[in-house]
Amino acid sequence: MRTGIGWDSHKLVEDRKLILGGVELEHSHGLLGHSDADVLTHAIIDALLGAAGLDDIGAHFPDTDAAYKDAESLVLLRDVVDRIAGAGFTIEHVDTTVIMERPKLSPHRGAIRATLAAALGLEGGQVNVKASTGEGLGFVGRGEGVAALAVATLSVK
Ligand code: MG
Repeated sequence: MRTGIGWDSHKLVEDRKLILGGVELEHSHGLLGHSDADVLTHAIIDALLGAAGLDDIGAHFPDTDAAYKDAESLVLLRDVVDRIAGAGFTIEHVDTTVIMERPKLSPHRGAIRATLAAALGLEGGQVNVKASTGEGLGFVGRGEGVAALAVATLSVK
């Protein structure tokens, strides 16, 4: 068994979509980034790459590369899933936490889990999405951004 951790954060701004785990949430603000800035999917990608010993998201999809401008992060995740399998690993489980003040994540949790499970080639029970807030503290608490953590467990084929 191998375990990897992933962390990411992105800034909340006007006139951008808020996409988490491949699901668009209705909100006044969205996440700023070179790609679609799907902070949750980025954390999962880093957790998977970490567990497999395959560097990090920036090494595979550099934000200086125009090919990844406005890239759909779920497409990048599917690419990473293929690379993980190619490196001889099976994804066993992914656990995540989204740290966000607004909007509430809970109404979207089921859709996010299902979308991520499909991209990861897992059953819904093998992917978990937890929600936390900043309790008014720091950049999350002030509503300036969203952070996400992920842990991935792989087995060697
Ligand atoms: Mg990112």
